[in-house]
Amino acid sequence: MRILVTGGAGFLGSHLCDRLIEQGHDVICLDNYFTGSKKNVEHLIGNSRFELIRHDITQPVLLEVDRIYNLACPASPVHYQYNPVKTIKTSLLGSVNMLGLAKRVRARILQASTSEVYGDPTVHPQTEEYWGNVNPIGIRSCYDEGKRVAETLFMDYHRQNKVDIRIVRIFNTYGPRMHPNDGRVVSNFIMQALQNKDITVYGDGLQTRSFCFASDLIEVILRMMEQTQSIGPINIGNPGEFTILELAEKVIKLTGSKSKIIKEHLPSDDPKQRKPDISKAKKILGWEPKVNLEEGLKQTIEYFRRELSKA
Ligand code: NAD
Ligand code: UDP
Repeated sequence: MRILVTGGAGFLGSHLCDRLIEQGHDVICLDNYFTGSKKNVEHLIGNSRFELIRHDITQPVLLEVDRIYNLACPASPVHYQYNPVKTIKTSLLGSVNMLGLAKRVRARILQASTSEVYGDPTVHPQTEEYWGNVNPIGIRSCYDEGKRVAETLFMDYHRQNKVDIRIVRIFNTYGPRMHPNDGRVVSNFIMQALQNKDITVYGDGLQTRSFCFASDLIEVILRMMEQTQSIGPINIGNPGEFTILELAEKVIKLTGSKSKIIKEHLPSDDPKQRKPDISKAKKILGWEPKVNLEEGLKQTIEYFRRELSKA
C-alpha cells in the first residue's frame, strides 16, 4: 500500500515509518520538523519506497494514498505550550485537512489521540467510556481540547461522510529517538542522570503515569489500522503504574548516576493519576505490551548514552 505518516520524522512517527517500510509498503513521511528531525529518518532516505515531504498539516495537501496515520502534533507539554495557538490549529485544521484528503482519495485514516482527553481523571484506571475531566481554559487545553475536537471531527466525518476512521488513545510512551530536550519526564530524567545533574521532580512526585515502550505501541497502532472490528477509540498503553518518584529512582539505579532528586514547582492542571484500562485492546486487537519499564528504560538509556557520546 501507499501510506502517509504525518509527523513521520518525530519520535513515534519515525518508528512507524521503519515498520511500514519493513512490511514492504511505500511510505510518504510528512513533517514540518517542529519537534521532529530528519535525523530520525535519515537511514530511510535513498530507499526507493520512502519519500520525505516538508509540509505543515494546517495547510491542505493532495496525495494519492491508501492509509493515513495522523501523528503530526507536538506531544511534550513544553513544546505544545510553546505556541499554543499553533498546537490547537495543528489538531483542528490538521484533522480537517487530513480527513478531507481521506474522504477525497478514500483512504483509511488513523488519529493518534491521547490519554489527555481524560484530563485530570476522576475515574481510575481510565476506560474508553469515561468522558474526562478537562479544563477548557488552562495551559494544557490547547493540546487536550485540540485532541478532543480532533476525535469529534473524526467521528463526524465517519458518520456524515462514511470516512473509514480509527482512533487510538495513546498513554505515555517512551523510547529511543525521543528528543533529548523534549521536556517529557523519561527523556528529562535519563538526560539528567547520565550527566549527573539534579533530577527535577515536579511537585511531590506522587502523581502517577503508566509508561509504554515504543515498539509495543507501534505494534498495536499497526494492528488497529488493519482490523475491521472497531473504529475505536481504543486505549493503548502499558497499564503498569508508577509514581514519578519511583521513575526517578529507577533511572538513577539503572544509570548508576550520582544525581540527587530535587523538587520543583508542579505545573498547573498536571494530572494526578493515569493508568489505561486496556481490556478493549486485549480483546479486539489481541494485544498487550511485552516490554516492562526496566527493560524499556535500559534500551532508552543506551540510546541517550550513544547520543551524548556523539555530541
Ligand atoms: P513528537 O513531537 O516526537 O512527534 C510529532 C511530530 O509531528 C514531529 O515530528 C513534529 O515536527 C511534527 N509536527 C508537529 N506539528 C506539525 C504540523 N503542524 N505539521 C506537520 N508536522 C507537524 O511526538 P510523539 O511522541 O512522536 O507523538 C506523535 C503523536 O502521538 C502526536 O500526535 C501525539 O499527540 C501522540 N501521542 C504521543 C504520546 C507519547 O507519549 N509519545 C502520548 C499520547 C499521544
Ligand atoms: N515531570 C517531572 N519532571 C520533569 C518532567 C515531568 O516531574 O522533568 C512530571 C510532570 O509534572 C508529570 C509527569 O512527570 O506529572 C509526566 O510528565 P510528561 O511531561 O512526561 O507528560 P504528561 O503525562 O504530563 O503529559
